[in-house]
Amino acid sequence: MRLRKSREEQLAIKWALAKRQPWGVDTDIAYNGDPRASVISGFKNRVKAYHLALQAQVCCYCRVDLNNRNIETDREHIIPKEKFPFLSYEVFNLSVACKTCNMTVKNRKTTHLVDFGRTGNLVSKNILDERNYHIVHPNIHDWDEHIELLGDQGNRSAARIYYPVTARGTFTYDFFQLKNFERISNNQAQRGVAAWRSPVLHPDVLAAQKRFKQF
Ligand SMILES: [Zn+2]
Repeated sequence: MRLRKSREEQLAIKWALAKRQPWGVDTDIAYNGDPRASVISGFKNRVKAYHLALQAQVCCYCRVDLNNRNIETDREHIIPKEKFPFLSYEVFNLSVACKTCNMTVKNRKTTHLVDFGRTGNLVSKNILDERNYHIVHPNIHDWDEHIELLGDQGNRSAARIYYPVTARGTFTYDFFQLKNFERISNNQAQRGVAAWRSPVLHPDVLAAQKRFKQF
């Protein structure tokens, strides 16, 4: 399933990209009443709906349920639009995240991009190339292959523990401070997080369980 830009949207995006802040044209009072600003607004909504469907309505980084009324949803630019304004409307560079991951934690940081701090540029010009990213990329990687989530997916107030199973998963866990989203019940707290985490989630045990299920 790919999202295609209509001719009208392509023209409006071209117009927006020529502005100083391409992403903000639809809320900028200077363009109030300009039909291209409304086209941009409609396109943003379409992209959001598209990514919500792709991400099964959860934050692309922490997996919290974005349908929960207490969680604010943001459109997320994986490569920050402040550094690369021309990627503002690139569907592949967009996703949906909770406000905590998008604004509080990630904001304009670039340390999730490989070598950006040293070179001020991307390792590969191809934004589809995973070598550009340290994190689990919402549109490249399968989140579940990098991080095991134990607990109730979506519900932030329920018991939940993240268990990174790859280097990329570990980077994502640290970068987004997923530890702050972890919760354990009183019962689990008494036994200790480590006691709860390791026996259940050790990858070898999980693999064995999966094999067992096949029989
Ligand atoms: Zn999040």
